[in-house]
Amino acid sequence: MKKALTIAGSDTCGGAGIQADLKTFSALGVYGMSVITAVTAQNTQGVFGVLDVTTEIIEKQIKAIFEDIEVDAVKIGMVSMIDTIKTIAEGLKTYQPKNVVLDPVMISKSGYDLLNKEAKETLINELIPLATLITPNIPEAEVISNIKIKTVEDMEQSAKIIYDMGVKNVLVKGGHLELEEKEAIDILYDGQTFNYYKAPIINTQNTHGTGCTLSSAIASYLALEKDMKEAVRLAKLYITMAIEQAFSIGKGVGPTHHFF
Ligand code: PLP
Repeated sequence: MKKALTIAGSDTCGGAGIQADLKTFSALGVYGMSVITAVTAQNTQGVFGVLDVTTEIIEKQIKAIFEDIEVDAVKIGMVSMIDTIKTIAEGLKTYQPKNVVLDPVMISKSGYDLLNKEAKETLINELIPLATLITPNIPEAEVISNIKIKTVEDMEQSAKIIYDMGVKNVLVKGGHLELEEKEAIDILYDGQTFNYYKAPIINTQNTHGTGCTLSSAIASYLALEKDMKEAVRLAKLYITMAIEQAFSIGKGVGPTHHFF
């Protein structure tokens, strides 16, 4: 059985964060494990509070996993604070897992800051160089590469800037870009070529946890020994179906469907 680890925050309502990651790993036939960085109180309507887990316990969680179990892929999500990021970076340097998918979570769809403002620089300097793949959406890519993104060419430019920060692959997700074709386009850059992944924009309000689900699906397929292009292609198919089957569970933005 292949094994994947998510290092991320807990989402009480189960649509994003650790809970989405573990559901995705299970749905794709990979054994899931978790290191919890923060506990959020949230539902389909918003985030109401965050408790950051101490670095001491984060370090112990990482050690507990890696000293005992072989990890085939790691997905990193909400990291919230400078010290959390530094602790995770130390863990990655010590244990050198082969696949590290970094989802640079910054703000929830409901507008809550999930990454401390001062922590952005640390994320860029300490975690990006250790990642096999980073998966920013357009607002995140704009912050990291420090350029405005309005076109597909801007996405390519941003991917190149982020690649030069030391990560092996960059996937800029274009869902926020208004294209004429009513399609979303994601761009994968490996330092040499661009690969383009197109999917129809699905008309649903239930999109809570889409970024978490995509990045953990890519981590799952990397754990299953797919190469990067194939892992992204298969993960895109999974998230597209997960959004197509998304459903409402409360008064606000519902989750994607992991098992279909
Ligand atoms: N909560 C946690 C713990 C997360 O990791 C994330 C995103 O990565 C979110 C909430 C935000 O989810 P969304 O913006 O899809 O609603």
